[in-house]
Amino acid sequence: MHILVAGGAGYIGSCCSEYLLDRGHQVTVFDALLNGHREAVDPRANFIEGNLADLEIIHQAIRDSRPDGIIHFAAFIEVGESMQDPLKYFRNNVSNALNLCQAACDNQVRKIVFSSTAAVYGMPEHIPISESEPTFPINPYGEAKLMFEKILRWQHDLRGLQYTALRYFNAAGASQKYGEDHHPETHLIPLIMQAAEGKREQISIFGDDYDTPDGTCIRDYIHVLDLAQAHLLALENEFCGSLNLGSGQGHSVNAVIDMVKKVTEKDFRVEVKARRPGDPARLIADSSAARDILGWKPQFDNLESIVRSAWAWRQRHPDGYIS
Ligand code: UDP
Repeated sequence: MHILVAGGAGYIGSCCSEYLLDRGHQVTVFDALLNGHREAVDPRANFIEGNLADLEIIHQAIRDSRPDGIIHFAAFIEVGESMQDPLKYFRNNVSNALNLCQAACDNQVRKIVFSSTAAVYGMPEHIPISESEPTFPINPYGEAKLMFEKILRWQHDLRGLQYTALRYFNAAGASQKYGEDHHPETHLIPLIMQAAEGKREQISIFGDDYDTPDGTCIRDYIHVLDLAQAHLLALENEFCGSLNLGSGQGHSVNAVIDMVKKVTEKDFRVEVKARRPGDPARLIADSSAARDILGWKPQFDNLESIVRSAWAWRQRHPDGYIS
């Protein structure tokens, strides 16, 4: 297949592009390089620098490359920022994404695989969370992702566009070549690693009074290459709708800190701070639908292998990407 990867210079997009290329597919990366990195574009991919805000550029990119499918990763990802500047999120993650959808439909692209999120569930009542859990996002980031899922569903129902929305839980880990380098960094595992590297004085735990065995929040960490596998399977599959992607295992913030200490063999200061607003105590995926429908078989089934891959990448890229 020839696949256009929007947002292919970002963390998950770069790992997914590499995964597709390694399996003999052709990839065109479309990225504005606002948050992505030029170095994270696999040299085997075609690269088009462009912003989804510009309908003509994305139209031309699709007209010229004639992809069999599109994977859409290009979005802003900071929940906290979305609370400060909601319109920034609705503009980019919904309005600009409409241009991609329009260009795909105008050029008869068969399928879009969309990078969605567990944030569509808000504060879920049932754990593990299945796709039948009600969706009540509690921040503009999650709301914008859910809005775009609904837009894709209408395009499917009314215009025959095929789509799969993949709701990731906590993406983590790295491939041999590509890893996580966000500015600013807000995610737990890279922040703990910065503490291990001495680049930050300490790691803060946001609350230790949750209703969990050790009082810290529990999350479901899923390896980025397992996410990549699911994207390819979704492109190859006829299924249209939304699917959760997680490991099904929960790890507390304390457990993740202990694992980073074990893997890095470094010690660092840990401080307990106030809860971060909007954090549910537990988020664990029921991904049985992705396994059953797509035949998805995650390869990294434990936290240690995820943390080891992230640490190995950081050691090869001590300053992250240069560009
Ligand atoms: N967290 C923390 N300290 C930090 C960053 C995150 O205790 O410096 C916690 C956060 O409250 C959540 C978990 O780690 O319970 C994972 O947070 P992250 O931002 O990585 O992902 P999220 O689950 O919010 O998508």
